[in-house]
Amino acid sequence: MFDLERIARIVGGEFCGRKVNCELTGVSTDSRNMVPGALFVPLRGGRFDGHDYLSQAVKNGAAACLSEEVVEGLNVPVVRVADTLRALGDIAAAHRFQLQGPLIAITGSAGKTTTKEMLAGILTQVAPGLKTYGNFNNLIGLPLTLLRIEKSHQWAVVEMGTSALGEIERLTEIAQPTIGVITNIGEAHLETLHGLDGVSRAKGELYAGLKGGTAIINLDDERVAQLPVANGVKKRTYGLNARADVRGEHRVVEPDAVSFELLTADQRRSIRLPVPGVHNVHNALAAAAAALELDVSLEHVVRGLEEFVPVQGRMNLFPLASGGMLLDDSYNSNPLSARSALDALKALKGQGRKVAILGDMLELGEDAQLLHQALGERVAQVADVLITVGRHGEQLEMGALKAGMRKEQIYKVDHVAEAIEMVKSCHRTGDRLLVKGSRGVQLDRLVQELKAAG
Ligand code: ATP
Ligand code: MG
Repeated sequence: MFDLERIARIVGGEFCGRKVNCELTGVSTDSRNMVPGALFVPLRGGRFDGHDYLSQAVKNGAAACLSEEVVEGLNVPVVRVADTLRALGDIAAAHRFQLQGPLIAITGSAGKTTTKEMLAGILTQVAPGLKTYGNFNNLIGLPLTLLRIEKSHQWAVVEMGTSALGEIERLTEIAQPTIGVITNIGEAHLETLHGLDGVSRAKGELYAGLKGGTAIINLDDERVAQLPVANGVKKRTYGLNARADVRGEHRVVEPDAVSFELLTADQRRSIRLPVPGVHNVHNALAAAAAALELDVSLEHVVRGLEEFVPVQGRMNLFPLASGGMLLDDSYNSNPLSARSALDALKALKGQGRKVAILGDMLELGEDAQLLHQALGERVAQVADVLITVGRHGEQLEMGALKAGMRKEQIYKVDHVAEAIEMVKSCHRTGDRLLVKGSRGVQLDRLVQELKAAG
């Protein structure tokens, strides 16, 4: 890691009081989990202000602290900065250059984490590297990810999320990706991004911010395909589109997998992706296109994809003791991902009913009502039973009724606790359940209950 004087220079900070240099073992933003000898960076959040925990950080081993305020009487040196979040990004940006190899950044409205895991699964077979842990994809998570880069890492795959314009631009500035992937552009975070044009602009900041390298482009997503790319950046395309550089053909949907053929300019391979959801072909093609751009062999690409293990809460399929199935897609939801999850429910084989348990899709702004209604219409084409969880149940119901579902097929509850009782009481042998909702609805708790009950 760096020494404190170097950090002070990187972040443009000044020592509070006497300048005292020290070597640092790392960087931490959580005073409860300090690595001994690390720098504590206090961040201001909605509910907490890290500046209230400087003493605790020192007690837990911090060797130095950053601070936006003048601090005296702490037993370790303190460097004052204007903005600790910005400073965290600046330190990560400097540390990023420890990486001896490519850095691939992935953004998009759906499929970031899945594509990241697929690509990391491919690259791991070739050399050791680093991937974003979980969903650490924002202005805190991305820097913390980059700060984990070690000498042994030969590649890094990072996820970039956004809820505001300018965020991906800053994340790109910090990470300096050599390859940028945008999986798709759909209705997510509409509240803060102001419509699909806003989403396009926000995601497009990744291609626009690349300094050389390659933009990996989903040719089946019109909005992605139209995004401008920075000068000097190479374009590589993927999709089902016949013009794509890396192409998928002959998709066969199975309940627990999707098979397809992967084509490049001169090669063709059959792949069986062991995860439900035809949308995962696009995630796989994105991962393949990025890997092939790095000269990874097609054999490694195929093996990596065929050994893919679904990420928790995304398209996880479990058999139920009642003879039915549970499709756990409870991690998060937006209109784009909810549509693909319903398609996956449609593909589930079996005799029992298809039950869509759908929580609210949050952060959709003024279009929320219409988007829930549209999803309800879609539900009517797929499911035999709809259970809604949250305050948008009315609109889901309205859409479902409009598209031909009957009132007695629909149940509405407000909270996950009631959903648990509801599902238990109306469960029938052989039911195939899809569970999906935004994080805030906490439908993962329902999934835990269902799994525990068998
Ligand atoms: P988040 O914004 O929550 O980090 P993400 O972009 O990382 O989401 P994933 O976690 O990979 O996305 O997938 C979330 C859900 O989105 C999946 O469970 C699935 O329902 C849906 N999904 C994944 N990939 C795609 C895709 N390429 N197209 C449409 N829907 C998708
Ligand atoms: Mg994610």
